[in-house]
Amino acid sequence: MTALPEHLNLVDGRACPAAEGHTIEVVDPSDGQPFATLPRSGAADVDAAVRAARAAFDGAWGRLTATERGRVLARLSALITQQAESLAQLECRDTGKPIQQARVDIAACARYFEYYAGAADKLHGETIPYAAGSTVMALRVPFGVTGHIIPWNYPAQIFGRSVGGALAAGNACVVKPAEDACLTPLAVASLALDAGLPPGALNIVCGLGVEAGAALAAHPGLNHISFTGSAATGTAVAQAAAVNHVPVTLELGGKSPQLLFADADLDEALPVVVNAIVQNAGQTCTAGSRVLVERAIHDAVLERLAQRFAALRVGPGTRGLDCGPLINRRQLDRVTGLVDAAQADGARAVARAAVVDDAPAGGFYFAPLLLDGVAPSHPLAQREIFGPVLAAFAFDGEDEAVALANGTPYGLTAAVWTRDGSRALRLAHRLVAGQVFVNNYGAGGGIELPFGGMKHSGYGREKAFEGLRGFTTVKTVAIRHG
Ligand code: NAD
Repeated sequence: MTALPEHLNLVDGRACPAAEGHTIEVVDPSDGQPFATLPRSGAADVDAAVRAARAAFDGAWGRLTATERGRVLARLSALITQQAESLAQLECRDTGKPIQQARVDIAACARYFEYYAGAADKLHGETIPYAAGSTVMALRVPFGVTGHIIPWNYPAQIFGRSVGGALAAGNACVVKPAEDACLTPLAVASLALDAGLPPGALNIVCGLGVEAGAALAAHPGLNHISFTGSAATGTAVAQAAAVNHVPVTLELGGKSPQLLFADADLDEALPVVVNAIVQNAGQTCTAGSRVLVERAIHDAVLERLAQRFAALRVGPGTRGLDCGPLINRRQLDRVTGLVDAAQADGARAVARAAVVDDAPAGGFYFAPLLLDGVAPSHPLAQREIFGPVLAAFAFDGEDEAVALANGTPYGLTAAVWTRDGSRALRLAHRLVAGQVFVNNYGAGGGIELPFGGMKHSGYGREKAFEGLRGFTTVKTVAIRHG
C-alpha cells in the first residue's frame, strides 16, 4: 500500500512531525477515504511551539512597528488571494463543503488579513486627565503569546479572524486547528513565512483535542486563549486556563431563530431562511436552525419552504451542489440520532432534499430536512444540531415570538423579517443575541461586524475593530512630572 502524503506541524518556521512520531489520518468526508496524514502532537510539541512564540514575541516579531506588522499581513492577504483556487480546492477536500462555499471562505480569510493589516496601526490608547503635574497614558499592548483553538467547520475563515486580529495587535500565536480540518491553516501559515512573518510568530500544532488541545489550554506560557468550538469544550478550556489565570475568549454554538412576521417580504426572506440552514450542511455556529412563523402565514410559509427543500441537491463538495456531506461519521450519527428522537416524539417531516444517486457510498451525507411539530422544549429545539435540519414553530404576536426566540440556552444571532420598522427595532432590543439582523441574515459573514455570543454562546468578541481590541490589554503609565 502506498503511504499517504504527510502534512507537518509548523513550529519556529520549520515543518516538523510530532515529537513522538504519531499521526492521524485525514479523511475525505465525501467518500470516507483517508487521503493524507497529520501529526498527532502531544504536550512536548505544544511546549516547543509556545517557546518559539515567546522567543518571537521577545525578538524579531516584537520589535516590528505596528505599520510593519500591517505590511506583513497585507502581503499575506495578497498571497492568499493569488493562491485562492488551490486553497479552495484543499478546503473543499478536507471539509467536504461545496467548492463555491470553499471559495467564499478563502476570500474571507484573505479579507480578514487585509482588514487587520489596515487596522494594525490605527489602534490607539488614551490619555487620562488626573492629578495636577501628572500625565497618565492607558497604552493598548498585546497580551504576548496567544493560543488559538479552532473548529473544523470554517477552518480558513476562523483561522483568519482569530490569528489576523492577534498578529495585528502584536501577539505571537500558537494555533491548534481541529483534527478534522488542519490543511488550510497549515497552508496559510506557510504563506505567512513567504510574506515575511518572522519564524515563531505563528506556529501550528495539529493533533487531537484531548491531547494537543488540552495541553495548549493548560499551558502556563500563554497570555490569552481564543477558543472557537462547542460549549462543552469551551468549559473545559476555560477551566484549564483559569488555573494559570489566562483570559479566554469563547466563541461557542448557537440555536439561532429566524422570526417571520405576516407582513414580511417572503420572496426576500425564504431563500435566505433556507440558505441559513443549508450553508455548510448546517455546520455553522450561526445556522438559522429555527424558523418562527406568525400563525397567519404558517401553512403558506411551510408549503413554500417545502418546495425549496425538495429541490435541494446533496453530493460531493467538488460537484458544487447545494449541500455537501457532514464532516465525519460521528457527526452523521449524532444528527441522525437527534432527528430520529424528534420524529419518535411527534415531529413531522414536511420535506426532504435528495442525495444524488452517484454520491460515493462511504460519504457522510445527510439530506436537508424541514420539520414541523417539534415541541419547543425538545432537545432538537434546544440543542445545537450542526446538520441541515430546520425546525418550524408557530407563534401569535411579538411576546410569544420573543419568548420562543430567547427560550434556548444560546444567544448567538437572530433575524427578524417584517416591514414594520417599529417592530423591527423593538425586537432588536428584546432578542438576546450577539448579533440581530433585520430583513437580512449573515450566517457567518461580516468581517467588519463585531461578533460573539450571549448566554451559552460564549463571551468576548472577534471580527471588526472590537476583535483587535480583544487581543490587547491595557497598561496604565502614570507620570508625575510637577
Ligand atoms: P469542538 O469543541 O469539538 O472542537 C473545537 C476545537 O477544540 C478543536 O480544535 C478540538 O480539537 C479542540 N478540543 C476538543 N477537546 C478539547 C479539550 N479537551 N481541550 C482543548 N481543546 C479541545 O467543536 P467542533 O466540533 O470542532 O466545532 C463545532 C462547534 O464549534 C459548534 O458548537 C459550533 O457552533 C462552534 N463554532 C462556533 C463559532 C463561533 O464563532 N461562535 C464558529 C464556528 C464553530
